Amino acid sequence: MNQEKRVFLASPHGMCAGVRRALETVEMVLDRFGPPVYVLHEIVHNNFIVNDLQQRGVRFAETLEEVPPGAVLLFSAHGVSAAVEEQARSRNLRIVDVTCPLVKRLHHCAGKARDVLILIGHRGHPEVEGTVGRSGAKYTFVVGSTAEAEALTPLPPGSRIELLAQTTLNTEEVGRIEAKLRERYPQLESAATVCYATTNRQRAVRALAGKCEVILIIGSPRSSNSNRLREVAEQAGVKAFLIENAGEIPAEIIAKTATIGVSAGASAPESLVEGVLERLRAAGFRVENENCAADESTAFSIPPIPEKS
Ligand code: SF4
Repeated sequence: MNQEKRVFLASPHGMCAGVRRALETVEMVLDRFGPPVYVLHEIVHNNFIVNDLQQRGVRFAETLEEVPPGAVLLFSAHGVSAAVEEQARSRNLRIVDVTCPLVKRLHHCAGKARDVLILIGHRGHPEVEGTVGRSGAKYTFVVGSTAEAEALTPLPPGSRIELLAQTTLNTEEVGRIEAKLRERYPQLESAATVCYATTNRQRAVRALAGKCEVILIIGSPRSSNSNRLREVAEQAGVKAFLIENAGEIPAEIIAKTATIGVSAGASAPESLVEGVLERLRAAGFRVENENCAADESTAFSIPPIPEKS
């Protein structure tokens, strides 16, 4: 007898409050000013969203020099350093800051550090660059792994050390790095800065791992939280794939797997999730909704948008 083919959809999955706010804001800015509207870096790390906005007149700049004076400029949800903010303000730009409030909280904690700040994160990610550029500490270090924690330059005895983490990291990996650092510096003071959306989505993927042969994570390759979801699934012992859309589901997985888990990163739109489920339904899978109890009631208000003069 054929085994029933089932898909388990993680809950919660997909868009978080910070991404929804960023996208609602860019829509309002486009309505008010019309194209072109500029965004420093990708507004969120999702190719589908970025391509759609580009077609509607949003231009993504890598540096402030690419933005003409007087233009409307949004800072992305990942935030920017104090120096970049200051430079943008001095260029007579109309700025709309859609930095996620939870990234702002991380900036605030970094700004309060005075002696040593250790930020657990991935070098080169805009959120890490922005947070390092908000540090008030004499010495700031970025640590990306337990090996880097072990290799960290010895700090002067008695240093006051603040420990923070990028909002979208693997919570278990953050715990391991913190434990390694604490062996060397028991006086560490840490604040929990991995955000609610990251934590909830990872917990839901771990809960799926016991009942699926394969887990599909919908998200773009540059999305930190989507990559971490794939890692979390693999660390829980399940083969996992990061896919951008339904067209990227490996044909072999559809043909040879009876139980598939599906989740999506915090920047992936629900239409892409629906597309994946549709393709799996068409291949004979029955979709079941999982429910991992989590508080997802967080919502953020729209940031100030300048008037059109
Ligand atoms: S993943 Fe977390 S920190 Fe990033 S935008 Fe969403 S809520 Fe904000």
